[in-house]
Amino acid sequence: MGNKKFGKQQILLLIRAAFFIFYPAIFVTAFTGARMLVEEIAAKETLKLDGFVETLIILCVITILFGRIFCGFFCAFGTLGDAVYWMSSRIQKKRKKRPFHVFAKAGDVLRYGKYIVLVAVLALAAAGYGSTVSMNSPLSAFSRLHALKPISSMIGLGLFILILIGMALEPRFFCRFCCPLGAIFSLLPVMPFSVVQRDREQCIKGCKACQMVCPASMELPSKEEGDNAMSGECFACGKCAERCPRRNAERPFPGKYLKSK
Ligand code: SF4
Ligand code: SF4
Ligand code: SF4
Repeated sequence: MGNKKFGKQQILLLIRAAFFIFYPAIFVTAFTGARMLVEEIAAKETLKLDGFVETLIILCVITILFGRIFCGFFCAFGTLGDAVYWMSSRIQKKRKKRPFHVFAKAGDVLRYGKYIVLVAVLALAAAGYGSTVSMNSPLSAFSRLHALKPISSMIGLGLFILILIGMALEPRFFCRFCCPLGAIFSLLPVMPFSVVQRDREQCIKGCKACQMVCPASMELPSKEEGDNAMSGECFACGKCAERCPRRNAERPFPGKYLKSK
């Protein structure tokens, strides 16, 4: 079983690496679609269905059907966040210290930051500053660095460096607290078969293993509950199911079909 599990993890890592290398711009493309829709609405123009908007719609449909699997596995920025935190944790372990969780307690409040970013960016877009915001965004800095192009905005670079520091201090720092596309995804309804759940009666008394390993620090909802106020924060990564000693956390579709038992 050990080898089988190792194989699955390797396949997932390869998929994530491939999307990071070859498709780093999906996230920026989709959010550009949202921004353009707002700009067109503000200018009272006819809405255009171009590649940006199509990407946004496809990602939203995938999220409604299967939960945030795009965030969990395919988004280059999410992968970057996981990689930076993994490296930071390794360094801490070598120093015989615990991995950082600087924003663990404040996370419940800080998660609202992404909605503020979303509203601010879309409001600026509606006011005609969409291109300026985009040019100075940390995502543009990331895209240019990824493409080995010179940086065009020091503001964008500065913000990107701050985000990298945040990523080293807290799991999925950008995704949980800052990402405007993540804010949209977190508000989408998710089909019941894709909401991660547990059978609370089967839980070990006092166990919090799933919450401890969860990059969103989520307390899993019970099957009776279905979903809860935090379910939109779930990245559908399946780490809770991997960690549960009782195999009592059900991974979101299609994760449960990858279950080793
Ligand atoms: S929350 Fe944003 S940055 Fe994070 S994985 Fe999702 S789309 Fe990407
Ligand atoms: S790890 Fe498993 S047993 Fe422990 S609280 Fe989570 S679902 Fe329950
Ligand atoms: S560990 Fe579980 S609850 Fe947490 S984000 Fe991943 S799938 Fe969702």
